[in-house]
Amino acid sequence: MKSEKLDLNNITQSNVGEVSNQLSTQPPKGAVMLDKSLLPSRGKFYPETIYVKKLNTLNIKNLATINENNINNVINNVLSNCLWGIETGKILTGDKIWLIYYLRAFTYDDIPFVLRGTCDNCGNIRNYKFFLKNLDVTYLDKDVPEYIELPNKDKITITYPTIATEGAINRLKNDQNIMIEINPELLELSSYILKVNDTKMSLYKAYEYICDMDAKSFSHFTNEMAELLFSAKPVAKFKCDSCGEDILLPMPFVPSFFLPKIK
Ligand SMILES: [Zn+2]
Repeated sequence: MKSEKLDLNNITQSNVGEVSNQLSTQPPKGAVMLDKSLLPSRGKFYPETIYVKKLNTLNIKNLATINENNINNVINNVLSNCLWGIETGKILTGDKIWLIYYLRAFTYDDIPFVLRGTCDNCGNIRNYKFFLKNLDVTYLDKDVPEYIELPNKDKITITYPTIATEGAINRLKNDQNIMIEINPELLELSSYILKVNDTKMSLYKAYEYICDMDAKSFSHFTNEMAELLFSAKPVAKFKCDSCGEDILLPMPFVPSFFLPKIK
């Protein structure tokens, strides 16, 4: 990284490109390095150093007006705005939701969000304070095997879908040239297949492969994959203070979560 100061008075037309390259090698002001081990993926698939910056007013406004139709656009825009050092398309879908909760916590110093909940076990009703640590997260703490061998003897090399893969999934779902009915869950499962016996698979080829699988192989594959998934669910996890049971409460994106009352 070059360290000499830029002389902004001395930029000629020919070196404008070079100047903007130099500027983009510096993380934005106020950005801090993300501890990738906090991610559901544990950061295993990101060689990049990732920086995060706080949500700005436009991000907050968009997050506070999130709905079923705009959710993907809003989240992807916020991530491309607040993460630095990584292309948004390379972010794994299993990390996406966690990153939004993380950015909210980072922006507001993890100011708690109060949820009212009933314990299913003892009926105790009380208020719970949600902090980032209460988010229901499944981490990838296992090593991903080189391949999964199926009962049909095929060796499957797996990958993890990214935001870019999500785009490909949506394009395939809406492709008018495809005459067969696409099952969304099988298509999602297909996005975890990188290679079959060393042959690289397109998303559509992987989907066809899954659809043609014998039942034993399919069952084995889904069970093996279930052990290798990671995600953050929009669910808050607490312990009941009267009986000690786990309490799960929905923690959806609501306006008051992104616009908390500051005392
Ligand atoms: Zn209880």
